[in-house]
Amino acid sequence: MTTATTADLCAELILHLGRLGQQAPGAARLTPAQWTALRFFARANRFSRTPSAFSSFHATTRGTASQTVKSLVSAGYLTRKPSETDGRSSLFELTEAGRDMLAADPLKTLSAALERMPDGERAALDQGLRDLLAQVALDRGAETFGTCGDCRFLDREAPGAGTRWVCSCTAAGLISDDFDKLCVNFAPAAAEPDEAGTTPAR
Ligand code: SF4
Repeated sequence: MTTATTADLCAELILHLGRLGQQAPGAARLTPAQWTALRFFARANRFSRTPSAFSSFHATTRGTASQTVKSLVSAGYLTRKPSETDGRSSLFELTEAGRDMLAADPLKTLSAALERMPDGERAALDQGLRDLLAQVALDRGAETFGTCGDCRFLDREAPGAGTRWVCSCTAAGLISDDFDKLCVNFAPAAAEPDEAGTTPAR
């Protein structure tokens, strides 16, 4: 007889929580993949709102990701817009109907339960899950997604007063709105103290 280790049980709990978190009254209005896509396009930055980035985020094939995006466009929840930085490509954004649908996201039950946890426990869980995700992505050779505050490509053009934040991966200037968005180009920064103490929070 094999005995499940604590690690095995934790892995099962994470999966079970993920499945349970997606079940709620009204959840059936979209498939789990469509809900994930709506969340992704609501949170992704201007370099990442593409079917290809979504396929990496959702760990699925580009064809499957494109079908999911197409179904949300047909339903009126996503719309395609030309990219401001690359005229040959398009970005996808939530429509008003998409934002209304996301307001009924079944995952909110799980968010509410997390809100009720003591701050310290929630912060430890947050860090633990981030570390786990990074490790599993590394083991699987999968891309990790993150935000500018934790990214090694975040750079300053003029340290000190009048700092302008730039992304050294895309050579684009960053505005405050960019900092809490998910990015397909994200690469984790090595931990180091910020001399000016002005690194934007994630
Ligand atoms: S700094 Fe990193 S996370 Fe931010 S836009 Fe650039 S690559 Fe993406």
